[in-house]
Amino acid sequence: MIHEECGVFGIWQPENGSVAYDTYAGLFALQHRGQEAAGIAVSRQGVFHFHKDVGLVSEVFSGAVLQGLGEGNIAAGHVRYSTSGNPGRTNAQPIVVRHRKGNLAVCHNGNLVNSVQLREKLELAGCIFHTTSDTEVILYLVTQERLASSSIEEALERTMRRIEGAYSLILMSPSKLLAARDPHGFRPLCMGEKPDGAVVFASESCAMDAVGARFVRDILPGEIVAAGPEGIRTIRMHCGEMPRSLCVFEYIYFARPDSVLEGCPVNRWRQEAGRRLAKTHPVDADVVVGVPDSGLDAAIGYADASGIPYRIGLVKNKYIARTFIAPSQEQRAGMVRLKLNPVREVVEGKRVVLVDDSIVRGTTSAQLAGLVREAGAAEVHLRICAPPFLHACYYGTDIDSEDNLIAVNHTVEETAKIIGVDSLGYLSVEDAGRIYVTGDGLCRACFDGHYPTAVPSVSSKNRFELPIGG
Ligand code: SF4
Repeated sequence: MIHEECGVFGIWQPENGSVAYDTYAGLFALQHRGQEAAGIAVSRQGVFHFHKDVGLVSEVFSGAVLQGLGEGNIAAGHVRYSTSGNPGRTNAQPIVVRHRKGNLAVCHNGNLVNSVQLREKLELAGCIFHTTSDTEVILYLVTQERLASSSIEEALERTMRRIEGAYSLILMSPSKLLAARDPHGFRPLCMGEKPDGAVVFASESCAMDAVGARFVRDILPGEIVAAGPEGIRTIRMHCGEMPRSLCVFEYIYFARPDSVLEGCPVNRWRQEAGRRLAKTHPVDADVVVGVPDSGLDAAIGYADASGIPYRIGLVKNKYIARTFIAPSQEQRAGMVRLKLNPVREVVEGKRVVLVDDSIVRGTTSAQLAGLVREAGAAEVHLRICAPPFLHACYYGTDIDSEDNLIAVNHTVEETAKIIGVDSLGYLSVEDAGRIYVTGDGLCRACFDGHYPTAVPSVSSKNRFELPIGG
């Protein structure tokens, strides 16, 4: 299973108030983007208070912890899934520092492709890093640039000349909140407004809904938006520098179906993917079943276009937490059985079209197909609303190598046999690129190998944790 990367949230308002609670609510809505760690930093008259730790938002923030953060007029928060650096507490975000010109907190979603070179230069100049995440590289550059800049937004603009790759950022200075997106726009980032005038930035629009904010617009690729006492300032010097490359996997899997990314509702995208799958990979069957959660809308689309009835044939146990203990390999293999259970009445004796979001190693798909067969399905036809994964991703997901991708070394027929399904059909790369209402560009590099940037020489997420000489 491919993992989400991270989620960012920030709020600025003129007067002190419950910005910590709003950020907590926003991070709750973004929990699907990262479950390893969470953190919130609050600015009260320029004095920063923060708390972060490993765990889900509900585990990291008790009522007492939130109360301890107190009132403020700016806050920034983060949920993390580690794609650069280990998942431990030291790498949790926001990263908060005190530099020559004040305090700074940084939250980052994405992965830089030139972080190794940048970090090496910084280290050779004497910089000491406390984390193994590429976010600290951004932080160092911003604080360096701030020395020669008249404002934090200017320092960020200058930093953007030096960093390459995927970044949706939220920065908090003592008086301002900044949002910035890399010139390709790999990861989403949007802004909204609350009825009381508070400005909100978030990875996805579902977080705006969670705090009662009105969605205003997406942050443009390459744009910086700063909210502060002088109002809103936008800097677009890096806009249009690069072809737009929003990650298509945001639509396929990462984003919540109730979010709208660049004008396209995620649920609508998935339903259209399902409709296209029904046209390109039709099959005689009795029932269409979606794999919760991200396969559900695609299954509805497949059923719409094929005329085969859609039924809820897999029930997800929503209470299996990340912390569920499965000490042995055998017990871990049984996790799918605990997470998803077939509805025997729906699948027994039926030819089932099973619709899922993607296949990475094939292990989960094989277990799922096995469960549906055990429940009595006569045939299982697997339809995937993504093309086959053939290449590593360098932009903030955990597929940093091609080694374990089942499609790299196997044909579709071989994959079907390994997984144990009667037929297998993927969405085509062309269709994955066409389902996009605004007509802007998408990154599809993990499917077609056309990377929008130079690719890094070292891509492991633990690249800064390799042992070094004494
Ligand atoms: S390589 Fe794939 S997963 Fe990575 S950003 Fe591009 S489309 Fe998304």
